[in-house]
Amino acid sequence: MRVTKANVTRACAICERTLLMGEHAYRFSPDGSDYVDVCPLCQEVALEYGWVREGIPVTPALQPPLRRKRSLLASLLGARPAEPEPVVSEPILRRLGDDEIALVEAADLFNASQFRRTVTGVAKALGEPRVSIVPLSGVNSEMVVTFAWDISWYQYRVQPEAAQPVRLEERGHDIGDLDEGFTDWNAQLDATGRLMPEIERL
Ligand SMILES: [Zn+2]
Repeated sequence: MRVTKANVTRACAICERTLLMGEHAYRFSPDGSDYVDVCPLCQEVALEYGWVREGIPVTPALQPPLRRKRSLLASLLGARPAEPEPVVSEPILRRLGDDEIALVEAADLFNASQFRRTVTGVAKALGEPRVSIVPLSGVNSEMVVTFAWDISWYQYRVQPEAAQPVRLEERGHDIGDLDEGFTDWNAQLDATGRLMPEIERL
């Protein structure tokens, strides 16, 4: 069943499940400005990722104690990674070819974006995703990053030259809907929640 108007269906931003008519959803903001729906099952995950619950002021004093006692892993997967570690170090980068450097750049841009939190949040609920980074043909160096689980996928467009270099392109529920060109899984989400291209020489 498909509802034609996109704004009629509400889906949980974390597990992507379509919310039932009348089902209570919580409103959370991953970035402090835009709010998304989160289903009751994923409420904990949203809190853990530091998403801001609608109507709750963001002052350190009011942070739930959970936030302060987070495990190392949780802080690595963390809500607000200040500056994510570059995917490869400078000396290795110098040994890579242009194609590989493009993959690394796309990964670095993605890791620095707010969407990293969305993906690590979903991975927490659904497990490790299959991941691909695919350059689009053309003169500009646009890339498509795809994260796929059996019941959900997210696809991001990375445009290094753009003011907002990463944006959500499309998402869906059926991995079978993905174009074959995006299913050559050449990257992964590492243990710290970073997108890492699989490059042999790394
Ligand atoms: Zn959910």
